[in-house]
Amino acid sequence: PPALEIEDLVVRHGDRAPALNGVSLSIAPGDRVAIVGPSGAGKSTLLAALMRTVDIESGNIMLNGVDIRRFASDDVRTRMTGLIQDPYVFQATLRDNLRLAGPDASDDDLARAVRQARLDDWTGRTGWDTTLGEDGRTVSGGQLQRLALARALLYDPQVLLLDEPAEAVDEETADALLADLLDATRGRTTLLVTHRLRGLEQVDEIVVLEDGRVVQRGPHHALVSVP
Ligand code: ADP
Ligand code: ADP
Repeated sequence: PPALEIEDLVVRHGDRAPALNGVSLSIAPGDRVAIVGPSGAGKSTLLAALMRTVDIESGNIMLNGVDIRRFASDDVRTRMTGLIQDPYVFQATLRDNLRLAGPDASDDDLARAVRQARLDDWTGRTGWDTTLGEDGRTVSGGQLQRLALARALLYDPQVLLLDEPAEAVDEETADALLADLLDATRGRTTLLVTHRLRGLEQVDEIVVLEDGRVVQRGPHHALVSVP
């Protein structure tokens, strides 16, 4: 089955017009899909539905073929995890910030080996080890997002969620940050939510959301005429 399948999703906030009005999308294992759209399109509502923090009026969300209503909320949030908006940083090096993170921060050999392997994979993909010795409190917003992604990957989520990962940094940093995040997530099932189309050449599919509906979908080169 698809890693994530959303079928005809309708979500309404109170008695307003639906924030999501029949949205369907599917992510094959290992693919990356970007949800793009202007403010108010329904992107946050879609993430909230995935995290089960809003009620679904109708439609289904399936994770590897299983309806997410069958999971406990906490369970859903470890299966689908990603960049949180305000990553917490310990007063320690980035390396130690990573050592202290993860679903099993215990000190047994296996847990340590698993964390080390994921960290090696991560630094191999990003060349990030040059900065791992830096103090977490002094690094830039872009480095914090890289830290947050590395931490999220320690959970080895079935679907990685990236919510406007380049929102809090300036335009120039944003391009480099997004490129790094996309390099580091190649081959990993990812849902990226963003209001900008720029820098999305690498993703497998772009889904354009407007007024709670999918108005276009396809690879980047097919959508370059989007305003
Ligand atoms: P986006 O993330 O693309 O900016 P949202 O999902 O935040 O879009 O919003 C979709 C629509 O739902 C908008 O019309 C917005 O005003 C409305 N909306 C979002 N959250 C709430 C809420 N908590 N209560 C009422 N309306 C909301
Ligand atoms: P740039 O990064 O060069 O500014 P973007 O592709 O991010 O260009 O888009 C510029 C503006 O168009 C942004 O305000 C963005 O919110 C809006 N935009 C981008 N894609 C869409 C879309 N699919 N539908 C509606 N608005 C969009």
